Amino acid sequence: MTGRTPRILIVGSGFAGIGMAIALRRRGLTDLVILERAETLGGTWRDNRYPGCACDVESVLYSFSFEPNPEWSRTFSPQPEIEAYLQRVAETSGVLPFVRFGEEVTGATWDEATHRWCVTSTSGTWQAEHLVVATGALSDPVPPAIPGLDTFAGPTFHTAAWDATVPLDGRRVAIIGTGASAIQAIPALQPRVAHLTVAQRTPAWVMPRWDRATPAWRRALYRRLPVTQRLARLLQYLRHETLFVPFRHAGPRRLAEWIIGWHLRRQVRDPELRRRLTPPYGIGCKRLLLSDAYYPAMTQSNVSLVTDAIVRIRPEGLETADGRTHAADVLILATGFRPTDPPLAPVIRGRDGRSLADVWRGSPAAYLGTTVAGFPNLFLLNGPGTGLGHSSVLMMFEAQFAHVLGVLDLLARRNARTAEPTAAAQAAYVRWLDAAHADTVWSRGGCRSWYLDSTGRNAALWPHGVGRFRRMTRRVRPDDYALDLT
Ligand code: NAP
Repeated sequence: MTGRTPRILIVGSGFAGIGMAIALRRRGLTDLVILERAETLGGTWRDNRYPGCACDVESVLYSFSFEPNPEWSRTFSPQPEIEAYLQRVAETSGVLPFVRFGEEVTGATWDEATHRWCVTSTSGTWQAEHLVVATGALSDPVPPAIPGLDTFAGPTFHTAAWDATVPLDGRRVAIIGTGASAIQAIPALQPRVAHLTVAQRTPAWVMPRWDRATPAWRRALYRRLPVTQRLARLLQYLRHETLFVPFRHAGPRRLAEWIIGWHLRRQVRDPELRRRLTPPYGIGCKRLLLSDAYYPAMTQSNVSLVTDAIVRIRPEGLETADGRTHAADVLILATGFRPTDPPLAPVIRGRDGRSLADVWRGSPAAYLGTTVAGFPNLFLLNGPGTGLGHSSVLMMFEAQFAHVLGVLDLLARRNARTAEPTAAAQAAYVRWLDAAHADTVWSRGGCRSWYLDSTGRNAALWPHGVGRFRRMTRRVRPDDYALDLT
């Protein structure tokens, strides 16, 4: 086990950090440490424990390609199973002993003299040749900026910081937000509570989910003939790649809107409620959601949909623009995260002393979403422009792992100490990426989503199919990297 000068230091032990450590170890690179601020691993899959929390990508695809799991209980497995899967993978692959828990990173500065990253954390200082930031896009929950939030008399908590000690059964609960987290929590809460007030600012497109328990025969088949699970994964991968088409092309988008609108028409008979649940923007502009249970829950007599803007939170409930107060005993914030504002960006300082936040000025950009000019030997996993609206982000992570290994190989081959993308290569890549976003639904769909950064640029998503990112990251182009050979 290394001391405080590991060759590679990884921040975060979610899917990205654990997967990266496995990929490094398989390459024989074992001089590494993973710093994790919490006491257990799992990242967003550890933190999000709200009722109904599950993956909205099929488990066969939302798992590592190198660690298939024949035992998934459902098509879309619930959060506890996903967290347990990652824990098991960390144990069986041997990376668990490399994780240092309770280590919150507070700063990371490139030291030009030693050619190392000087990283400060709860326990002191670390020095590493390479720094891998695997802190994820969904790590810090964002409360809504609504006046009076702290005046609410009852318990208030975010879906990503669920307080399971608060009794909900038979109580009046208000939930703010109708994004991916809310539409999973609402059907789970509705049968338990006396009344559920759902405060919606913008309706979501919701498509059928068709979640099923995995039959025993299928699990047995996957166990005995692993190639069948690989085939199922391949088919899901190809199916998801076609889901991307409507995001780029208006014709298929209108067809998708009609088909998915049918789900709403079928499940919500009341025309007025249906009208209020109908999104006024193109499908995919905000994240496309999956649920079979959300609309039926919204039609129940103990649920009220509030669409007037919340002007204030009062001790007794939500006050809306129409002057009404919607009384509640418990307030749940399903208000999401801010992925285009990475939490460590202000404290990671590169070659010239400027931080990532200084360089980005509210609009994150990186070469292949992974490396940044002026920040030698720094790797961002799930970095700018690597999110997905249509498939499993774990495939993007795996492509990034391959790219990181490729850069390390390049360094070894050239006997170099540091690598960073050239400013020209990064600028050309970012120009290409931005141009590819121009004709997507995210830019033209008529909505404002969290995919867009403070300048209105899409800094979150990859604008093509996953296969293209894999191809582009697989081979490192040496000319795109500046190496320090001293
Ligand atoms: P989200 O998609 O950002 O949704 C936040 C919701 O809160 C939106 O409906 C938003 O309305 C609303 N909101 C925010 N501030 C508000 C305010 N001041 N007043 C009223 N409403 C407000 O967050 P999320 O649902 O937590 O999901 C975040 C991401 O997590 C997802 O997109 C997905 O990537 C991931 N996720 C994945 C799964 C999964 O199954 N894999 C499950 C849950 C989450 P507007 O739309 O008007 O902004």
